[in-house]
Formats: sequence, structure tokens, C-alpha cells
Amino acid sequence: MKTKLGLLYGGKSAEHKVSLQTAMAVIKALDVEKFNIYPIYITEEGRWVKGPQLQGPVSSVKELEFSPESEEGKLAPAIFAGPQSDGGLDVIFPLLHGPNGEDGTVQGLLELLNLPYVGNGVLASAAGMDKVIMKNIFAEAGLAQVDYTSFIRSEWEADKAGAYEKVEQKLGYPCFVKPANLGSSVGISKCRNRAELEQAFGEAFLFDRKVIVEVGVTAREIEVGVLGNDNPDVSVAGEIVPKTDFYDYKAKYEDGDTALIIPADIDGAAYERIKEMAVKAFKALDCSGLVRADFFLAENGTVLINEVNTMPGFTPVSMFPLLWKHTGVEYPELIERLVSLALERHAEKQ
Ligand code: ATP
Ligand code: MG
Ligand code: MG
Ligand code: MG
Repeated sequence: MKTKLGLLYGGKSAEHKVSLQTAMAVIKALDVEKFNIYPIYITEEGRWVKGPQLQGPVSSVKELEFSPESEEGKLAPAIFAGPQSDGGLDVIFPLLHGPNGEDGTVQGLLELLNLPYVGNGVLASAAGMDKVIMKNIFAEAGLAQVDYTSFIRSEWEADKAGAYEKVEQKLGYPCFVKPANLGSSVGISKCRNRAELEQAFGEAFLFDRKVIVEVGVTAREIEVGVLGNDNPDVSVAGEIVPKTDFYDYKAKYEDGDTALIIPADIDGAAYERIKEMAVKAFKALDCSGLVRADFFLAENGTVLINEVNTMPGFTPVSMFPLLWKHTGVEYPELIERLVSLALERHAEKQ
């Protein structure tokens, strides 16, 4: 029996285009002998459109951008029912990033529909999306990380000077100011003085009502992939070497000349420490399926966790799939393992 797989992609987010690219790559990698593939497209306006069953790879994202006015689109409310003739979809793979994608909202919808889905559940997705909540949980788990503080917009607006003084006293310079609930470095600034701090707060509050400020560290950036449910595996480590001051949005999506070094040239002790911390972080947030865990490795060997990403970039040239490729798990097998993990997790909950 083939697995009826619903691919959920697009979305009302800045990462709409990336999601389409990811969907195209996943479709190409899926074995049509094992899977019946049903595309479910969320338009940039947030409308849900079901596409026809795919018989194989598509040659351009245009073929995946279904119109809400199409015959199939009219079926939108029954979107997850799948083809009635064969009893509905077996599992959903949400290929969505950021708010409304990896923050637990879509996961909650799928829970209510009692449908298995790939990746993290509601709690881990929501906690992982909010950098303040995530770091509070890491602190409670005893994971080493940078010092941080946070502000909500109204608090900052009521006493901006007080907020800046608090940052200077508690953290000093350089520091990083970030919207609490984003990814891809959107809205993040590095600050070396008060003027930059003021500007950074204004910028970060454009994206979120909550902002986190962290001590800026000088360190190498090492990432690992975690894959599994209760007893997850960890990939080899990869290093990011940005050509810019830090790994900002431009370096990620526009310049494209940031070097990804896999496996990272780090000593065995550092790798063991990172591996152990990655699993601890995965368990602390009660993750399932996958995460990409991002670390700082200082010159003296100190390892600090920066964050986990509950739906990391998933194109074949993104860090997470590349890390697994170097660990011996090729892209098609990675997708199949994620689908199995989703079904396994769903069965355990019943
Ligand atoms: P993504 O999810 O795409 O990895 P993000 O938006 O969640 O990114 P972070 O990973 O927290 O953001 O930070 C983006 C980049 O900014 C890091 O990869 C690193 O280059 C730099 N950076 C962030 N925080 C710090 C810090 N405390 N000290 C030094 N550099 C930092
Ligand atoms: Mg992130
Ligand atoms: Mg990161
Ligand atoms: Mg995150």
C-alpha cells in the first residue's frame, strides 16, 4: 500500500518562495512507487488550495502555485480529506517556516484533524519559535548559553532610556537585538554603542511585540542536525563561516557566499559536548522528528547553545539535509525517515 502524503507548502510568510523551492525538491525526491503525493498550497494571501495528485516531479514552481479559483481549489474546506475514493491522507509534511508554519499553529490544526504530520508538535514548535521562552527552558535544563534579557513593546515605549540602561548594565556591548519570534536573521542587529542599540530596538520591534537582547560573543558557529523521536540521532557537525560581520539575512539569502564546512574541523571533545547538548535541548523542548541546533564554539573550547530551529531550511542545499548527507542519510531517505517518525509518533499518542 502506498502512503498518501499531503505536502503543505507556500504560506503567508516571508519564506513563501523558499517553501515552494523546498516542495519542488521534496516531490522530486519522493519515490512514486511508495508515495501518492497530494499538494496543498497556501497562497501568499493565506488561502488554501488543494492541487491534483502528482504523478512525478514538476519542472517549475509555477506548476505548484494553484489558483484558488480552480476546480480543486473549490474543495478547500475538505482539503485534508484527500481523495474520498481512497480514504483520506495518511500523513502531512508541512514545509513551512516561521510564524504560522513552525510555531505550532499548523501543528495544532493537524492535531485537531487527528492527522499524523512530520516534525515537531505544538509545544516544541511554539516554545522553539519564541527565543525568550526557548532560552528560559534551556536555562532550566542547565544548558550553557549567552546572558540575555527581554522587553515587550509597551514596556520599552514607556521607558526607552531605562530599557537601554538595563541592557548596558546587564549585558554591555557588543550585544545582539532580535525579534523574539522570527528566523532567517530577519530584524537582527549587532550593537556596539547606544546609538546602534536605539536603532536596533526600533528595527526589531517592527517585527514583533517582544524583543530579546543577548551578549554578543566572538565564536565559531557550529550546527548539528537532530533526527528521531524519543532517542534521536545527531548528525556530523557543520560550520558556518559568514563573509559578513555576522550571519545576517543578506548573507543567508542574497550574497550566497557564506561557506558551509561539513564536517566542521573541530576536536572530538567539542563535538561530543555539542552532541550531548543538542540531545539535551531536543529533550528539554520535548521535540520530535527533527531540529537543527545552532551553537557557538569559543576559542577556549566553551560551547554555548544559540537556538534550535524546529523546521530548519530543507532544500537539498540547506544545512540540515547536507549535514545528514555527510552522515550517510541521503535526501530521499531523510524524507522517508521523517515520514516514518511522524507515523510512529502519532501511533504512540493513540
Ligand atoms: P536562523 O533561524 O536562520 O538560524 P535566527 O533568525 O533564528 O536565524 P540566530 O541564529 O539567533 O537568528 O542569529 C543569527 C546570526 O546572528 C547567528 O547565526 C550569528 O551569526 C549571529 N548571532 C546571533 N546571536 C549572537 C550572539 N549572541 N553573539 C554573536 N553572534 C550572534
Ligand atoms: Mg532560528
Ligand atoms: Mg540560527
Ligand atoms: Mg527559532
